[in-house]
Amino acid sequence: MASSKLLIRNGQVYDHDGDVHKPKVADVLIEGADIAAVGPNLAADGAEVIDARDRLIVPGLINAHYHSHDTLCRGMFEELPLEMWLLYTLPMGANRSREELRARTLVGALESIRCGITCVQDMLGLVPLDEAGSDTVIEAYRDIGLRVVFSPMVWDVPPIAMMRDGDQLPPDVQAMMGTQGRPIEPQFDFLESQFNRHPAKGTLHWALAPFAPQRCSPKMLQACAACAQKHDLQVYTHCYETRGQALIARERFASHDGSLITYMERNGLLDERLNIVHSVWITRAEIERMAEADAGIVLNHLSNLKLKSGIAPILDMCEAGVRLGLGCDNCSGSDVQSVFQAMKMFCLLGAVSDSEPGAPMAQEALRHATLGNARTAGLQGRLGAIRPSHKADLVLIDLNDTAYLPYNSAARQLVYTEAGRGVETVVIDGRVVMRERRIATIDEDALRREVAGLMKHFIADYEAIVAARAHALPHLREAHRRVWQPDIGLDRFVGRTR
Ligand SMILES: [Zn+2]
Repeated sequence: MASSKLLIRNGQVYDHDGDVHKPKVADVLIEGADIAAVGPNLAADGAEVIDARDRLIVPGLINAHYHSHDTLCRGMFEELPLEMWLLYTLPMGANRSREELRARTLVGALESIRCGITCVQDMLGLVPLDEAGSDTVIEAYRDIGLRVVFSPMVWDVPPIAMMRDGDQLPPDVQAMMGTQGRPIEPQFDFLESQFNRHPAKGTLHWALAPFAPQRCSPKMLQACAACAQKHDLQVYTHCYETRGQALIARERFASHDGSLITYMERNGLLDERLNIVHSVWITRAEIERMAEADAGIVLNHLSNLKLKSGIAPILDMCEAGVRLGLGCDNCSGSDVQSVFQAMKMFCLLGAVSDSEPGAPMAQEALRHATLGNARTAGLQGRLGAIRPSHKADLVLIDLNDTAYLPYNSAARQLVYTEAGRGVETVVIDGRVVMRERRIATIDEDALRREVAGLMKHFIADYEAIVAARAHALPHLREAHRRVWQPDIGLDRFVGRTR
Protein backbone atom coordinates (compact mmCIF):
# COMPACT_ATOMS: atom_id res chain seq x y z
CA MET A 1 0.00 0.00 0.00
CA ALA A 2 1.80 3.12 -1.14
CA SER A 3 0.92 6.64 -2.19
CA SER A 4 1.48 7.06 -5.90
CA LYS A 5 4.35 9.60 -5.96
CA LEU A 6 6.40 11.29 -3.31
CA LEU A 7 9.26 13.73 -3.80
CA ILE A 8 11.55 14.37 -0.86
CA ARG A 9 13.35 17.55 -1.72
CA ASN A 10 16.72 19.05 -0.78
CA GLY A 11 17.80 16.61 1.92
CA GLN A 12 21.31 15.38 2.59
CA VAL A 13 21.08 11.85 1.22
CA TYR A 14 23.27 9.38 3.11
CA ASP A 15 25.25 7.24 0.67
CA HIS A 16 27.37 4.40 2.08
CA ASP A 17 29.84 4.86 -0.77
CA GLY A 18 29.80 8.67 -0.85
CA ASP A 19 30.87 11.29 1.69
CA VAL A 20 29.56 9.72 4.90
CA HIS A 21 30.40 12.82 6.93
CA LYS A 22 28.73 15.49 4.79
CA PRO A 23 26.33 13.74 2.40
CA LYS A 24 25.37 15.58 -0.77
CA VAL A 25 22.08 17.44 -1.00
CA ALA A 26 19.69 15.73 -3.40
CA ASP A 27 16.03 14.89 -4.03
CA VAL A 28 14.55 11.42 -3.68
CA LEU A 29 11.66 10.51 -5.95
CA ILE A 30 9.46 7.66 -4.81
CA GLU A 31 6.98 5.96 -7.11
CA GLY A 32 4.71 3.44 -5.48
CA ALA A 33 6.78 1.38 -3.05
CA ASP A 34 10.11 2.00 -4.77
CA ILE A 35 12.77 4.67 -5.08
CA ALA A 36 12.59 5.86 -8.68
CA ALA A 37 15.39 8.43 -8.73
CA VAL A 38 17.96 10.16 -6.52
CA GLY A 39 19.57 13.39 -7.71
CA PRO A 40 19.43 17.16 -7.78
CA ASN A 41 16.39 19.12 -8.99
CA LEU A 42 14.07 16.22 -9.81
CA ALA A 43 10.74 17.22 -11.35
CA ALA A 44 7.78 17.03 -8.98
CA ASP A 45 5.45 16.09 -11.80
CA GLY A 46 2.36 15.83 -9.62
CA ALA A 47 4.13 14.16 -6.68
CA GLU A 48 3.45 15.08 -3.08
CA VAL A 49 6.48 17.08 -1.95
CA ILE A 50 8.20 16.82 1.42
CA ASP A 51 10.69 19.59 2.18
CA ALA A 52 13.88 18.04 3.60
CA ARG A 53 16.03 21.13 4.05
CA ASP A 54 18.23 20.70 7.16
CA ARG A 55 17.32 17.05 7.13
CA LEU A 56 19.50 14.01 6.73
CA ILE A 57 17.82 11.28 4.67
CA VAL A 58 19.10 7.88 5.81
CA PRO A 59 18.21 4.36 4.73
CA GLY A 60 15.65 2.87 7.11
CA LEU A 61 17.39 1.06 9.95
CA ILE A 62 16.76 -2.67 10.19
CA ASN A 63 16.62 -4.61 13.43
CA ALA A 64 17.91 -8.09 12.62
CA HIS A 65 16.99 -9.67 15.94
CA TYR A 66 13.84 -8.93 17.85
CA HIS A 67 11.00 -10.71 19.63
CA SER A 68 7.65 -8.93 19.81
CA HIS A 69 6.30 -11.37 22.40
CA ASP A 70 7.57 -9.53 25.47
CA THR A 71 7.34 -5.82 24.69
CA LEU A 72 5.01 -5.35 27.67
CA CYS A 73 7.83 -6.59 29.97
CA ARG A 74 9.95 -3.53 29.22
CA GLY A 75 11.57 -2.31 32.43
CA MET A 76 10.39 -5.25 34.54
CA PHE A 77 13.72 -7.01 35.00
CA GLU A 78 17.17 -6.12 36.17
CA GLU A 79 20.28 -7.95 37.33
CA LEU A 80 19.26 -11.45 36.20
CA PRO A 81 21.57 -13.57 34.06
CA LEU A 82 19.89 -15.18 31.06
CA GLU A 83 19.13 -18.54 32.63
CA MET A 84 17.32 -16.87 35.56
CA TRP A 85 15.57 -14.33 33.36
CA LEU A 86 14.12 -17.17 31.23
CA LEU A 87 12.20 -18.31 34.28
CA TYR A 88 9.97 -15.22 33.96
CA THR A 89 10.14 -14.08 30.38
CA LEU A 90 9.16 -17.41 28.79
CA PRO A 91 5.78 -17.73 30.56
CA MET A 92 4.96 -14.01 30.23
CA GLY A 93 4.80 -14.27 26.44
CA ALA A 94 2.64 -17.39 26.29
CA ASN A 95 -1.13 -17.90 26.06
CA ARG A 96 -2.09 -14.23 25.99
CA SER A 97 -5.32 -12.72 24.66
CA ARG A 98 -5.62 -11.56 21.06
CA GLU A 99 -6.06 -7.99 22.29
CA GLU A 100 -2.78 -8.25 24.11
CA LEU A 101 -1.08 -9.88 21.13
CA ARG A 102 -2.13 -6.99 18.90
CA ALA A 103 -1.22 -4.33 21.46
CA ARG A 104 2.21 -5.77 22.22
CA THR A 105 3.01 -6.05 18.50
CA LEU A 106 1.99 -2.42 17.99
CA VAL A 107 3.94 -1.22 21.04
CA GLY A 108 7.19 -2.65 19.67
CA ALA A 109 6.40 -1.45 16.16
CA LEU A 110 5.59 2.05 17.37
CA GLU A 111 8.84 2.31 19.29
CA SER A 112 10.75 0.97 16.30
CA ILE A 113 9.29 3.52 13.89
CA ARG A 114 9.89 6.37 16.32
CA CYS A 115 13.52 5.25 16.47
CA GLY A 116 14.00 5.15 12.70
CA ILE A 117 13.59 1.38 12.30
CA THR A 118 11.71 0.49 9.13
CA CYS A 119 12.07 -3.31 9.28
CA VAL A 120 12.26 -5.82 12.11
CA GLN A 121 13.11 -9.48 12.11
CA ASP A 122 10.47 -10.74 14.52
CA MET A 123 11.52 -14.15 15.84
CA LEU A 124 8.24 -14.65 17.58
CA GLY A 125 7.61 -17.09 20.40
CA LEU A 126 4.02 -17.73 19.38
CA VAL A 127 2.28 -19.83 22.05
CA PRO A 128 0.02 -21.45 21.03
CA LEU A 129 1.28 -21.73 17.48
CA ASP A 130 -2.04 -20.99 15.79
CA GLU A 131 -3.62 -19.08 12.93
CA ALA A 132 -5.47 -16.62 15.12
CA GLY A 133 -2.23 -15.50 16.75
CA SER A 134 -0.32 -15.34 13.51
CA ASP A 135 -3.15 -13.38 11.81
CA THR A 136 -3.27 -10.90 14.68
CA VAL A 137 0.45 -10.18 14.53
CA ILE A 138 0.57 -9.87 10.73
CA GLU A 139 -2.46 -7.58 10.73
CA ALA A 140 -0.92 -5.33 13.42
CA TYR A 141 2.29 -4.93 11.41
CA ARG A 142 0.29 -4.20 8.26
CA ASP A 143 -1.86 -1.61 10.02
CA ILE A 144 1.02 0.34 11.51
CA GLY A 145 3.06 -0.10 8.31
CA LEU A 146 6.28 -1.57 9.72
CA ARG A 147 8.11 -4.00 7.45
CA VAL A 148 8.55 -7.39 9.11
CA VAL A 149 10.59 -10.48 8.41
CA PHE A 150 8.35 -12.81 10.32
CA SER A 151 9.54 -16.12 11.77
CA PRO A 152 7.50 -17.87 14.48
CA MET A 153 10.03 -20.01 16.34
CA VAL A 154 10.01 -23.78 15.96
CA TRP A 155 11.68 -26.41 18.14
CA ASP A 156 11.16 -29.96 19.33
CA VAL A 157 13.59 -30.34 22.26
CA PRO A 158 12.19 -29.04 25.58
CA PRO A 159 13.26 -25.61 26.92
CA ILE A 160 15.16 -27.19 29.82
CA ALA A 161 17.79 -28.11 27.19
CA MET A 162 18.92 -24.48 27.34
CA MET A 163 20.31 -25.17 30.82
CA ARG A 164 23.64 -26.88 31.27
CA ASP A 165 23.08 -29.80 33.65
CA GLY A 166 19.36 -29.03 33.57
CA ASP A 167 18.62 -32.62 34.57
CA GLN A 168 20.33 -31.98 37.91
CA LEU A 169 17.83 -29.28 38.90
CA PRO A 170 14.96 -30.26 41.22
CA PRO A 171 12.07 -31.73 39.17
CA ASP A 172 9.72 -28.81 39.89
CA VAL A 173 12.36 -26.30 38.70
CA GLN A 174 12.87 -28.38 35.55
CA ALA A 175 9.11 -28.29 35.00
CA MET A 176 9.10 -24.50 35.35
CA MET A 177 11.75 -24.15 32.64
CA GLY A 178 9.79 -26.57 30.44
CA THR A 179 10.21 -30.31 30.01
CA GLN A 180 7.78 -30.88 27.14
CA GLY A 181 8.97 -31.27 23.59
CA ARG A 182 6.84 -30.51 20.53
CA PRO A 183 6.12 -32.77 17.57
CA ILE A 184 7.84 -31.61 14.38
CA GLU A 185 5.26 -32.17 11.62
CA PRO A 186 2.44 -29.97 12.97
CA GLN A 187 4.83 -27.03 13.25
CA PHE A 188 5.80 -27.28 9.60
CA ASP A 189 2.17 -27.83 8.60
CA PHE A 190 1.43 -24.60 10.43
CA LEU A 191 4.25 -22.69 8.72
CA GLU A 192 3.32 -24.03 5.27
CA SER A 193 -0.26 -22.97 5.82
CA GLN A 194 0.83 -19.46 6.91
CA PHE A 195 3.07 -19.05 3.85
CA ASN A 196 0.01 -19.89 1.71
CA ARG A 197 -2.47 -17.77 3.62
CA HIS A 198 -0.16 -14.74 3.84
CA PRO A 199 2.21 -14.83 0.87
CA ALA A 200 5.28 -12.61 1.20
CA LYS A 201 4.53 -9.29 -0.46
CA GLY A 202 4.57 -5.58 0.32
CA THR A 203 5.95 -5.24 3.85
CA LEU A 204 5.60 -8.91 4.84
CA HIS A 205 8.51 -11.30 4.46
CA TRP A 206 9.07 -14.73 5.95
CA ALA A 207 12.06 -16.46 7.49
CA LEU A 208 12.62 -19.66 9.44
CA ALA A 209 13.59 -19.69 13.10
CA PRO A 210 14.66 -22.94 14.70
CA PHE A 211 14.90 -21.67 18.30
CA ALA A 212 18.50 -22.80 18.88
CA PRO A 213 20.53 -25.83 17.75
CA GLN A 214 20.38 -27.37 21.24
CA ARG A 215 16.58 -26.98 21.14
CA CYS A 216 16.30 -28.92 17.88
CA SER A 217 16.84 -32.59 17.10
CA PRO A 218 18.75 -33.50 13.91
CA LYS A 219 15.39 -34.27 12.28
CA MET A 220 14.12 -30.80 13.17
CA LEU A 221 17.20 -29.07 11.75
CA GLN A 222 16.95 -31.15 8.56
CA ALA A 223 13.30 -30.20 8.22
CA CYS A 224 14.25 -26.52 8.59
CA ALA A 225 16.94 -26.85 5.94
CA ALA A 226 14.48 -28.51 3.55
CA CYS A 227 11.79 -25.89 4.21
CA ALA A 228 14.28 -23.02 3.72
CA GLN A 229 15.34 -24.53 0.41
CA LYS A 230 11.80 -25.17 -0.76
CA HIS A 231 10.54 -21.64 0.01
CA ASP A 232 13.82 -19.78 -0.54
CA LEU A 233 13.93 -18.47 3.02
CA GLN A 234 16.69 -17.26 5.31
CA VAL A 235 17.22 -18.95 8.66
CA TYR A 236 17.84 -17.32 12.04
CA THR A 237 18.75 -19.23 15.19
CA HIS A 238 20.11 -18.39 18.64
CA CYS A 239 23.63 -19.73 19.04
CA TYR A 240 26.35 -19.45 21.71
CA GLU A 241 24.55 -16.72 23.61
CA THR A 242 25.97 -17.74 27.00
CA ARG A 243 29.02 -19.48 28.37
CA GLY A 244 26.67 -22.26 29.48
CA GLN A 245 25.73 -22.83 25.86
CA ALA A 246 29.40 -23.19 24.89
CA LEU A 247 29.71 -25.84 27.60
CA ILE A 248 26.55 -27.57 26.34
CA ALA A 249 28.25 -27.74 22.94
CA ARG A 250 31.45 -29.21 24.37
CA GLU A 251 29.65 -31.73 26.59
CA ARG A 252 26.36 -32.68 24.95
CA PHE A 253 27.54 -32.32 21.34
CA ALA A 254 30.97 -33.88 21.85
CA SER A 255 30.34 -36.21 18.91
CA HIS A 256 30.01 -33.09 16.69
CA ASP A 257 33.48 -31.79 17.66
CA GLY A 258 31.84 -30.10 20.65
CA SER A 259 30.56 -27.50 18.16
CA LEU A 260 27.03 -26.30 17.49
CA ILE A 261 28.27 -25.07 14.10
CA THR A 262 29.35 -28.62 13.18
CA TYR A 263 26.02 -29.93 14.46
CA MET A 264 24.17 -27.53 12.16
CA GLU A 265 26.51 -28.25 9.26
CA ARG A 266 25.94 -32.00 9.54
CA ASN A 267 22.21 -31.39 9.41
CA GLY A 268 22.28 -29.21 6.32
CA LEU A 269 21.96 -25.74 7.84
CA LEU A 270 25.42 -24.21 7.45
CA ASP A 271 25.10 -22.22 4.26
CA GLU A 272 24.44 -18.73 2.95
CA ARG A 273 20.89 -18.77 4.30
CA LEU A 274 21.98 -19.19 7.90
CA ASN A 275 22.25 -16.35 10.43
CA ILE A 276 23.26 -17.18 13.97
CA VAL A 277 22.19 -14.75 16.63
CA HIS A 278 24.51 -13.62 19.49
CA SER A 279 27.65 -15.78 19.08
CA VAL A 280 29.26 -14.41 22.23
CA TRP A 281 31.06 -17.71 22.88
CA ILE A 282 31.85 -18.85 19.34
CA THR A 283 35.48 -19.80 18.64
CA ARG A 284 37.69 -18.18 16.04
CA ALA A 285 37.78 -21.42 14.02
CA GLU A 286 33.97 -21.56 14.03
CA ILE A 287 33.77 -17.91 12.93
CA GLU A 288 36.05 -18.73 10.01
CA ARG A 289 33.86 -21.63 9.00
CA MET A 290 30.84 -19.35 9.12
CA ALA A 291 32.65 -16.86 6.87
CA GLU A 292 33.60 -19.61 4.38
CA ALA A 293 29.97 -20.70 4.19
CA ASP A 294 28.79 -17.07 3.76
CA ALA A 295 26.67 -17.57 6.86
CA GLY A 296 26.08 -14.51 9.02
CA ILE A 297 26.21 -13.44 12.65
CA VAL A 298 23.70 -11.05 14.23
CA LEU A 299 25.17 -9.26 17.24
CA ASN A 300 23.03 -8.16 20.19
CA HIS A 301 25.36 -6.42 22.60
CA LEU A 302 22.61 -4.69 24.56
CA SER A 303 20.93 -7.87 25.76
CA ASN A 304 24.24 -9.77 26.08
CA LEU A 305 25.42 -7.15 28.56
CA LYS A 306 22.18 -6.75 30.48
CA LEU A 307 21.72 -10.52 30.82
CA LYS A 308 25.35 -10.98 31.87
CA SER A 309 26.18 -13.21 28.91
CA GLY A 310 29.45 -11.54 27.93
CA ILE A 311 30.84 -9.67 24.93
CA ALA A 312 31.01 -11.11 21.44
CA PRO A 313 34.51 -11.19 19.89
CA ILE A 314 33.83 -8.35 17.46
CA LEU A 315 37.37 -8.02 16.19
CA ASP A 316 37.75 -11.75 15.55
CA MET A 317 34.59 -11.47 13.48
CA CYS A 318 35.78 -8.41 11.58
CA GLU A 319 39.18 -10.01 10.91
CA ALA A 320 37.60 -13.26 9.71
CA GLY A 321 35.36 -11.28 7.33
CA VAL A 322 32.16 -12.99 8.43
CA ARG A 323 29.08 -11.02 7.42
CA LEU A 324 27.51 -9.17 10.34
CA GLY A 325 24.15 -7.78 11.34
CA LEU A 326 22.96 -5.92 14.42
CA GLY A 327 19.89 -6.50 16.57
CA CYS A 328 18.19 -5.14 19.67
CA ASP A 329 16.66 -8.40 21.01
CA ASN A 330 13.91 -8.62 23.66
CA CYS A 331 12.20 -5.70 25.33
CA SER A 332 12.62 -7.57 28.61
CA GLY A 333 16.31 -8.02 28.03
CA SER A 334 17.87 -4.80 26.79
CA ASP A 335 15.14 -3.03 27.04
CA VAL A 336 14.97 -0.79 24.04
CA GLN A 337 14.39 -1.06 20.32
CA SER A 338 17.11 1.33 19.21
CA VAL A 339 19.47 0.49 16.41
CA PHE A 340 21.31 3.71 17.32
CA GLN A 341 22.26 2.13 20.64
CA ALA A 342 23.12 -1.17 18.94
CA MET A 343 25.44 0.63 16.49
CA LYS A 344 27.12 2.60 19.25
CA MET A 345 27.68 -0.55 21.30
CA PHE A 346 29.19 -2.28 18.29
CA CYS A 347 31.75 0.49 17.90
CA LEU A 348 32.50 0.94 21.60
CA LEU A 349 32.82 -2.74 22.51
CA GLY A 350 35.28 -3.38 19.69
CA ALA A 351 37.71 -1.47 21.92
CA VAL A 352 37.33 -4.03 24.71
CA SER A 353 38.77 -6.86 22.66
CA ASP A 354 41.49 -4.74 21.08
CA SER A 355 42.81 -1.47 22.40
CA GLU A 356 44.80 -0.67 19.26
CA PRO A 357 43.64 2.27 17.15
CA GLY A 358 41.27 1.29 14.35
CA ALA A 359 37.96 -0.34 13.51
CA PRO A 360 35.09 -0.73 14.07
CA MET A 361 34.08 2.64 12.65
CA ALA A 362 30.72 4.40 12.71
CA GLN A 363 30.24 4.07 8.96
CA GLU A 364 30.75 0.30 9.28
CA ALA A 365 28.15 0.12 12.01
CA LEU A 366 25.73 1.94 9.69
CA ARG A 367 26.47 -0.55 6.92
CA HIS A 368 25.82 -3.50 9.20
CA ALA A 369 22.56 -1.97 10.47
CA THR A 370 21.24 -1.41 6.94
CA LEU A 371 22.94 -3.39 4.16
CA GLY A 372 24.18 -6.14 6.50
CA ASN A 373 20.81 -6.57 8.13
CA ALA A 374 19.07 -6.59 4.73
CA ARG A 375 21.43 -9.41 3.73
CA THR A 376 20.47 -11.45 6.80
CA ALA A 377 16.91 -11.47 5.47
CA GLY A 378 17.89 -12.15 1.86
CA LEU A 379 16.68 -8.64 0.96
CA GLN A 380 20.00 -7.34 -0.35
CA GLY A 381 19.55 -5.11 -3.37
CA ARG A 382 16.08 -4.17 -2.14
CA LEU A 383 16.73 -2.68 1.32
CA GLY A 384 19.50 -0.83 3.10
CA ALA A 385 20.42 1.95 0.69
CA ILE A 386 18.79 4.98 -0.93
CA ARG A 387 19.20 3.97 -4.53
CA PRO A 388 16.88 3.62 -7.52
CA SER A 389 15.02 0.30 -7.61
CA HIS A 390 15.42 -0.14 -3.85
CA LYS A 391 12.32 -0.15 -1.65
CA ALA A 392 11.35 3.29 -0.41
CA ASP A 393 12.24 2.69 3.25
CA LEU A 394 13.89 5.82 4.58
CA VAL A 395 14.09 8.16 7.51
CA LEU A 396 14.34 11.95 7.75
CA ILE A 397 16.55 13.10 10.61
CA ASP A 398 16.17 16.65 11.88
CA LEU A 399 19.60 18.26 11.89
CA ASN A 400 18.32 20.98 14.21
CA ASP A 401 18.39 18.49 17.08
CA THR A 402 21.16 19.11 19.60
CA ALA A 403 22.77 15.81 18.58
CA TYR A 404 23.97 17.75 15.51
CA LEU A 405 24.99 20.97 17.23
CA PRO A 406 27.52 21.48 15.80
CA TYR A 407 27.20 19.18 12.80
CA ASN A 408 30.57 17.67 11.90
CA SER A 409 29.88 14.14 10.65
CA ALA A 410 26.67 12.42 9.62
CA ALA A 411 28.01 8.88 10.19
CA ARG A 412 29.65 9.57 13.54
CA GLN A 413 26.81 11.61 14.94
CA LEU A 414 24.17 9.11 13.83
CA VAL A 415 26.08 6.42 15.69
CA TYR A 416 27.50 8.24 18.70
CA THR A 417 25.10 11.11 19.48
CA GLU A 418 21.68 10.32 17.97
CA ALA A 419 19.31 9.07 20.66
CA GLY A 420 16.29 8.80 18.38
CA ARG A 421 15.06 12.36 19.06
CA GLY A 422 16.07 13.50 15.61
CA VAL A 423 13.87 10.95 13.84
CA GLU A 424 11.14 13.10 12.31
CA THR A 425 9.55 11.43 9.31
CA VAL A 426 9.59 7.76 8.36
CA VAL A 427 8.64 6.27 4.99
CA ILE A 428 8.20 2.51 4.59
CA ASP A 429 7.36 0.88 1.26
CA GLY A 430 6.58 4.34 -0.09
CA ARG A 431 4.04 5.04 2.66
CA VAL A 432 4.57 7.88 5.15
CA VAL A 433 4.08 6.09 8.47
CA MET A 434 5.34 8.96 10.63
CA ARG A 435 5.13 12.56 9.57
CA GLU A 436 6.84 15.26 11.60
CA ARG A 437 6.86 12.97 14.63
CA ARG A 438 3.17 12.06 14.40
CA ILE A 439 2.32 8.44 13.63
CA ALA A 440 0.14 8.56 10.52
CA THR A 441 -1.15 5.00 10.41
CA ILE A 442 -2.69 4.15 13.79
CA ASP A 443 -4.28 6.06 16.65
CA GLU A 444 -1.36 6.27 19.07
CA ASP A 445 -3.42 7.72 21.93
CA ALA A 446 -5.94 4.88 21.65
CA LEU A 447 -3.09 2.35 21.78
CA ARG A 448 -1.73 4.00 24.93
CA ARG A 449 -5.15 3.76 26.59
CA GLU A 450 -5.52 0.14 25.56
CA VAL A 451 -2.08 -0.80 26.91
CA ALA A 452 -2.87 0.91 30.23
CA GLY A 453 -5.97 -1.29 30.52
CA LEU A 454 -4.15 -4.50 29.54
CA MET A 455 -1.32 -3.87 31.99
CA LYS A 456 -3.61 -4.36 35.00
CA HIS A 457 -3.99 -8.06 34.13
CA PHE A 458 -0.48 -8.38 32.83
CA ILE A 459 1.12 -7.14 36.04
CA ALA A 460 -1.14 -9.33 38.18
CA ASP A 461 -0.05 -12.35 36.10
CA TYR A 462 3.58 -11.30 36.36
CA GLU A 463 3.42 -11.01 40.15
CA ALA A 464 1.80 -14.43 40.42
CA ILE A 465 4.57 -15.98 38.32
CA VAL A 466 7.31 -14.28 40.35
CA ALA A 467 5.77 -15.49 43.61
CA ALA A 468 5.28 -19.06 42.39
CA ARG A 469 8.80 -19.34 41.01
CA ALA A 470 10.86 -17.58 43.68
CA HIS A 471 12.20 -20.81 45.15
CA ALA A 472 13.76 -21.78 41.81
CA LEU A 473 16.12 -18.81 41.78
CA PRO A 474 18.85 -20.15 44.12
CA HIS A 475 19.10 -23.33 42.02
CA LEU A 476 19.40 -21.35 38.79
CA ARG A 477 21.92 -19.00 40.39
CA GLU A 478 24.11 -21.99 41.28
CA ALA A 479 23.78 -23.41 37.78
CA HIS A 480 24.81 -20.01 36.39
CA ARG A 481 27.86 -19.83 38.69
CA ARG A 482 29.00 -23.29 37.62
CA VAL A 483 29.16 -22.32 33.95
CA TRP A 484 31.78 -19.69 34.72
CA GLN A 485 34.17 -22.17 36.36
CA PRO A 486 35.60 -24.45 33.63
CA ASP A 487 38.33 -23.12 31.35
CA ILE A 488 36.98 -23.19 27.80
CA GLY A 489 39.96 -21.57 26.10
CA LEU A 490 38.25 -18.23 25.62
CA ASP A 491 38.68 -14.95 27.48
CA ARG A 492 36.63 -14.67 30.63
CA PHE A 493 34.20 -11.95 29.54
CA VAL A 494 34.95 -11.59 25.85
CA GLY A 495 34.49 -14.73 23.80
CA ARG A 496 37.85 -14.13 22.12
CA THR A 497 40.35 -16.92 21.58
CA ARG A 498 43.34 -16.36 23.84
ZN1 LIG B 1 16.57 -13.71 20.85
